Amino acid sequence: MKFENGLLERSELHAILSSIADGVIVTDRTGRIVHLSSSAEAMLNTKSDEVVGKSIPISILLGRERQTKKGLVFCWEEKGCKEKKCPVYAKENPRCWIVGDTCPNGIKQGTFRDKVKKCRTCEIFARNSRILEEPLATIIEEIALNEPPNKILQIKTSPVVDELGNFLGFVRTLHDITLERQMSAMKDEFVSTVSHDFRIPLTSIKGYVDLLLDEEAGELNDMQKDFLTIVKQNSERLVNLINDFLDISRIESGKIVFEIKTHDIKSIIQEVVSTFKGLIEEKSLRLELKIPDRLPKVLVDHDRIIQVLNNLVSNAIKYTFPEKDIGISVDRKGNYVVVSVFDNGVGISPEDQKKLFTKFYRVDSSLTQETGGSGLGLSICKTIIERHGGKTWVESKEGEGSTFSFSIPIAKEIREPELIKQGIRILVVDDEPDISRLIQLYLEKEGYYVIRAFDGEEALKMAKKERPDLITLDIMMGKIDGFEVLQKLKSDSNTASIPVIVLSVILDEKRGYSLGAADYLPKSVNREKLVESVNRLIERTSEPEKKKRVLIADDDKDIVGFLEINLKKAGLEVVKAYDGAEAIDMLKKEKPDLLLLDLRMPKMDGYEVIKVMKKNKKMCEIPIIIMTAYDFDHGKTEILNLATSKVSKPFSMRMLTSRINETLIQGKNG
Ligand code: ADP
Repeated sequence: MKFENGLLERSELHAILSSIADGVIVTDRTGRIVHLSSSAEAMLNTKSDEVVGKSIPISILLGRERQTKKGLVFCWEEKGCKEKKCPVYAKENPRCWIVGDTCPNGIKQGTFRDKVKKCRTCEIFARNSRILEEPLATIIEEIALNEPPNKILQIKTSPVVDELGNFLGFVRTLHDITLERQMSAMKDEFVSTVSHDFRIPLTSIKGYVDLLLDEEAGELNDMQKDFLTIVKQNSERLVNLINDFLDISRIESGKIVFEIKTHDIKSIIQEVVSTFKGLIEEKSLRLELKIPDRLPKVLVDHDRIIQVLNNLVSNAIKYTFPEKDIGISVDRKGNYVVVSVFDNGVGISPEDQKKLFTKFYRVDSSLTQETGGSGLGLSICKTIIERHGGKTWVESKEGEGSTFSFSIPIAKEIREPELIKQGIRILVVDDEPDISRLIQLYLEKEGYYVIRAFDGEEALKMAKKERPDLITLDIMMGKIDGFEVLQKLKSDSNTASIPVIVLSVILDEKRGYSLGAADYLPKSVNREKLVESVNRLIERTSEPEKKKRVLIADDDKDIVGFLEINLKKAGLEVVKAYDGAEAIDMLKKEKPDLLLLDLRMPKMDGYEVIKVMKKNKKMCEIPIIIMTAYDFDHGKTEILNLATSKVSKPFSMRMLTSRINETLIQGKNG
């Protein structure tokens, strides 16, 4: 029996170390293993006898690749020090700093503890300590073992220092977090599945409420409009909530890959400002922008920083009373750019400020209750900024306002891309000068030459006179709206071939594509999507090849509509027929390069169409893809075999487009 006189004996200490549930590994000042507890033995599948007394690097013990010693530096070398009296001078062991008596200016002084105090800010020590896995203070890391029992371990490494402050070695505790990680992965999976399942019905609810509000199903009285608006707002709230849930779980689990690139923070802010213009005006707030002219580029994921700013600006608007000020300022601080969103709003108490960035935290006030929100926004912002290597903070005074700031790293200066696309002219049509200017900036950065029109009439005139290579077109404009402009452009042979990208808050893609738009992008304008679309279309028009024409023959109007949108998106020209007789007519008139044929149709069915085609010299070469939701009529296999290929409904658009492309290529080569 021991443990009695208040002092521990050596064997007792050993017993205690071995009984700790977490694994324990102790190394001495030279790196030799002096203790490996039984829990550690089990976790690492190693026997204590085999390793104790040996200088086995910890990385090897954990089954990791051994760290290379590349990057180790000697302080005397790095600093150009010639102090020969210093015991570290010209020594080959970079661990001198930790095991030897390091001394400034050759005077031996200080214990490990003293040295740590002095050296903590020293980059050389920090770097060496990282490479040698020998930290100056406790560090925590997580590793997954590659070999059975394949645990996930959290490892804490701390220097062991005696009461005099001398360095004795390191102690590592290994905590098994496999179960926690598995549970957390299951939770993420659950949140993600449930959220997706919610989103599908919500998409329909939102979509059909929008249709009702647009009076697509008949005129509405004021009360009906009010009620539907409430449904719309609440379904949007629900969508936002679900998106927040999904986002936080995906960001935390690392499922979202950040696309870190060089960006101009000023244009990111302008993008955000244009999104909120309406809301700011609605609440009669004044918006102030304090952005210096010359700012370095930042290294960020564009969409994620937009998300952070959207959140902060939306909060500033929500928690500020009408007719007050909100604003955004930008400052350079060392290697970072600090962006602040400030407001003259209700402010936040010091107590609440401490908890704001935690998940689901919302200030307990009537204004917060009235204002919709999940309490996840700021927590998402913090996580996103941390993933960029930056920080997030708040300064606020109750009743006076708040400033939310974050820092993001500066990109190393790189030269602007060369203007490689000179000579290509784009007409930007928008009645909002700010937005039009923004689009102009985006496109000019890409090397395009931009001309602008501010209403429909001017757009039509300029398109005819200037014959631009591409047009971006807003829909909501006074006098002539965008759809009308599009229709006029497409029906005039001078302008019909100019690709048009519709940029609009009105999400009526179907109408846009049926009028001949080449692409349909939502506003606010997403720079990358716009540039991608412009580049793609310009590339396509500069190809000499003519667009391929596809005839869709199907009596189901919804399917024809859906196919038309998708095939146009894929760069094909579309002609349509709703029964067999019309199909034959169109085959003669339009001379399509391919026929997409439904089998069950009124007047003349698909089998008949094939028979007629194959007897006609001009039509017999046109490839046919049959689409049907029913079983093929086996009595008519001979006719069916005359078609190039068959697809069963429902089919995926990706499959169908690739089938079409294959058929068209085969047609060209054969
Ligand atoms: P949400 O706005 O969805 O509730 P957030 O995480 O964005 O969630 O914000 C958490 C809480 O912080 C809000 O509920 C609000 O009480 C407070 N808050 C955020 N921004 C401001 C602001 N600009 N002024 C005052 N309070 C704010």
